[in-house]
Amino acid sequence: MLVRRGVRSGLFSIVAVHSTVCGPALGGCRMWHYDDARAAMRDGLRLSRAMTYKSAVAGLPLGGGKGIILAPDPSTPVVRGRRADALRDFGDTVDALGGMYVTAEDVGTSARDMEVIASVTSHVSGLSRKRGGSGDPSPWTALGVESAIGVCCERVFGSASLHGRTIVVAGLGHVGARVAKQCANDGATLLVTDIDRSKRALTPALGARWIEPGEALSTAADVYVPCALGGILDHDSIERLGAPIVAGAANNQLADDDVADLLAARGVLWAPDFVVNAGGIINISVELEPTGYDPRRARDRVCGIANTLRRIFDDAEARSESPLAAAMTLAHTRLAEAAAAPRNPFI
Ligand code: NAD
Repeated sequence: MLVRRGVRSGLFSIVAVHSTVCGPALGGCRMWHYDDARAAMRDGLRLSRAMTYKSAVAGLPLGGGKGIILAPDPSTPVVRGRRADALRDFGDTVDALGGMYVTAEDVGTSARDMEVIASVTSHVSGLSRKRGGSGDPSPWTALGVESAIGVCCERVFGSASLHGRTIVVAGLGHVGARVAKQCANDGATLLVTDIDRSKRALTPALGARWIEPGEALSTAADVYVPCALGGILDHDSIERLGAPIVAGAANNQLADDDVADLLAARGVLWAPDFVVNAGGIINISVELEPTGYDPRRARDRVCGIANTLRRIFDDAEARSESPLAAAMTLAHTRLAEAAAAPRNPFI
C-alpha cells in the first residue's frame, strides 16, 4: 500500500495493491470522505482484495488494486481547481508504482477525472471513447447482469428466456436502469424501485410497475435484481425474500459469507455479485490489450460471464457447496495457475 500527501492539494492519496499474480492490479479510484486515514486504508485493502477475485474469476490478466483520494469533508465536494490538483496528486501516486497499479473510475470519480489523471500518468483506464478508451463501463456491467439473469432462469425454470418472468429491479441508476430496459425488451413483467423518487418517471417507458424500496426484497417474483447498495442479504432479510433467484450488479450483497450457505439451504439461487457484475472490468481489460479497444471483442467477452456462471453453478452442485464457495475455489485455482506460470513483469 502506498500512501502519499499530495504536493498540490495537500490531500492524501492511497493505492492498495492486493495482488499482481495475474497481471497489473486494476481497480477504480474513489474520492470519498472517511472518518480517519486508517478506515480509508482498511477499505482500500478490502476493495483491492475483491478486485483480485473478480478479475481472477473472469479469467482476466489483471490483479486487484484500489485507489482512494481522501476527500476532506462530506458536506463539501472537492471543488474545481482543488479537484484537479487532487486528481493530479493521485496520478503521481499511481505513476510512482510504475504500472503495478492501473486506475479507473469509481464512486466519486468520472471518465473526465480519468483524463485529468492521465495528464500525469499513463497507467489509467476507462478513458472516453474519443481518447481511445473503453468509455462508460455501466452498459457492459448491465449486459453481464442480463446474461447472468438468463443463466439463473435456465437453472431454476429450465429456460433462459425472460419472457413472462416477473423481475424486481432495485436501484435504477447507471446499471439498474439499463438492466430494467433490457429485461422489459425481453418481455419480462417488471417491478422497479429506487430511493430517489424522481426515478419513478422511468416507469412508463419501461412498462414497469413502481413498488416502494422497502418492498423490493419481499415482493413475490421470479428474480430479484439488486442494483443499489451492498449488505442487503443478511440472516434476517433472506427470510423475507420473495424470489427464488437473486442476481444483480450491487457489490458486496452478502452481509457476511455465511449468508451464501443459508441462501443455498433455503433453495435460493444466488449468483455471486463479483461474477455477475464483472462486465465493466472485462470491458476495461479490452482497452488494455496491445491491439487497442474493440467493442465487438468486449461484447463477446462480457457475454462469457454466462459460461463462467454455468461452470460455477455446476461446480457448486457437484460439490454440494454454495455458488460463493465454488466461485472462490475458481478464483484460487486461477491465481495458483498464474503463480505457477512464467512470471509477468508486475509480480
Ligand atoms: P448508481 O449510483 O448510478 O445507482 C444506484 C441507484 O440505487 C441510485 O439511483 C440510488 O438512488 C439507488 N439506491 C440507493 N439505495 C437504494 C435502496 N435502498 N433501494 C433502492 N434504490 C436505492 O450506481 P451504479 O453505477 O448503477 O451501480 C449500482 C451497483 O452496482 C453499485 O453497488 C455498484 O458498486 C455496482 N457496480 C457498478 C458497476 C458499474 O459499471 N457502474 C460495476 C460493478 C459494480
